[in-house]
Amino acid sequence: MTADRINLLGLPRPEMERFFSGLGQKPFRARQIMQWIYRQGVDDFERMTDLSKSLRQQLAEVAEIRVPGIVAAQSSADGTRKWMLGMGETQGIETVYIPEPARGTLCISSQVGCVLDCSFCSTAQQGFNRNLGTAEIVGQVWLANRELGYSPDGNRIVTNVVLMGMGEPLANYRNVIPALQVFLDDFGFGLSRRRVTLSTSGIVPMIEKLGEDCNVALAVSLHAPDNALRNELVPINRRYPIEELLDACWRYASEVYGRFITFEYVMLDGVNDQPSHAAALAALLKHRPGKVNLIPFNPFPGTRYRRSPVAAIERFREILLRNRVRATIRKTRGEDIDAACGQLAGRVNDRTRIRLGKKLVQVAVRP
Ligand code: SAH
Repeated sequence: MTADRINLLGLPRPEMERFFSGLGQKPFRARQIMQWIYRQGVDDFERMTDLSKSLRQQLAEVAEIRVPGIVAAQSSADGTRKWMLGMGETQGIETVYIPEPARGTLCISSQVGCVLDCSFCSTAQQGFNRNLGTAEIVGQVWLANRELGYSPDGNRIVTNVVLMGMGEPLANYRNVIPALQVFLDDFGFGLSRRRVTLSTSGIVPMIEKLGEDCNVALAVSLHAPDNALRNELVPINRRYPIEELLDACWRYASEVYGRFITFEYVMLDGVNDQPSHAAALAALLKHRPGKVNLIPFNPFPGTRYRRSPVAAIERFREILLRNRVRATIRKTRGEDIDAACGQLAGRVNDRTRIRLGKKLVQVAVRP
């Protein structure tokens, strides 16, 4: 009878309160159950000992806490972990955990595949199957915390979440926003806005909307300093060119004083890594609340691109710094298990829905 039960995983607090009101219960039950789910990592109503026996029984009849299943797990020599989660019979998405001395970052997916077709990204090669539901997005963080071991004091191992896995989060806005709300809620994962980063290829109207609805930290996949080159690398640029994209970014940044936008810039040998590109990029970002994260390209089978040499990446960064544009070089992690940026391919067997996906983007991008 699973189909009749409501999945409580991923319900933002107001909806959880409505759910309990519907059962004739007080709204504070929502906070209680959210603490069990997100603080304690409990998915079994029987173990929620501060709820009465009769309420626990009622919950077991009408509700469930359904998390995606892990179909494969890999560990890198550098401590990075990768899980493939089953999304229906033949589909899978990937989630990556990146441990660092002072934090634990989880890179999560928002769609099974992607429709954007960026030429240097292996997810693009997979095509698109469907959007993830809110429970499937939230479930990635829940599962990672469980796999890494919840500590008895309720401290979670995942301290930062980045929506930089498979998919374009702003093309799945309807399901991503409630997930962000659960990440930020004190009774959810309790993460601060600074510790939740959404990365987008630049769907301008949805950036504006995100600023109004849930202004988490924003990363933008820029990758080129001019429209001709960006059209080639990130085709959505034909619809939302750089000028419009940057305007939206500066408006987003100004909503919270002191907030910087991160611009991701993948370093492709001989394509976008020349000193002239760096100078043009610096001109775009000078005196603006933006910083650049240079990402050494991660190759995948069949790609026509090569990673820029270290010297070229360092020279590029020097030019940005000389122009007083902040710039860092992303350390590549988990390469040995194909867990690095742009290497998440998951399992997208039914690609026939790519046209549906394109339609979804069109719907999503309508303001
Ligand atoms: N669709 C969103 C979320 C994906 S984020 C976006 O475009 O931002 C994944 C990040 O990794 C993006 O900045 C993407 O451009 C970058 N990336 C993709 N393929 C890559 C590759 N092969 N090597 C390095 N970085 C890559």
